[in-house]
Amino acid sequence: MNEKARAIAGRLRVKAAGVGAAAQRAVAEAGRRTGDSIETTKLNVRIYEINSEINVCMRKLGELMYAACAGGDADDAAVDALLAEIDGKKAEAAELRRRISELKKERPCPVCGAPCGAGDRFCRRCGAEAGIGDGN
Ligand SMILES: [Zn+2]
Repeated sequence: MNEKARAIAGRLRVKAAGVGAAAQRAVAEAGRRTGDSIETTKLNVRIYEINSEINVCMRKLGELMYAACAGGDADDAAVDALLAEIDGKKAEAAELRRRISELKKERPCPVCGAPCGAGDRFCRRCGAEAGIGDGN
């Protein structure tokens, strides 16, 4: 990378960090508006971060694929490492979503399996009766 390209990459990194912080504040604010607990909001912010990290991995994966398709050597070890990293991050996000569901006392819809809130009388996805809500 030449000096000019390095300088541009540096500016982009700073800009991306600023965008990430603003997006985190937006996720936290959305949580406050919907009355989520602090714990749920923290978990949602972490899920947002994980998704951002997955996007970075996907971009790197795309660059490796492009380099291979453009006639460069395929870096199999790097591809495998990125695939494993993405799998790990997806599993981590799924676990956090499961914890949020637990905190919100969600239960699966008896018809379609979508998560229904503790106070929901009807499923938000299919409209089926979700069971007896506790009114919270
Ligand atoms: Zn349903």
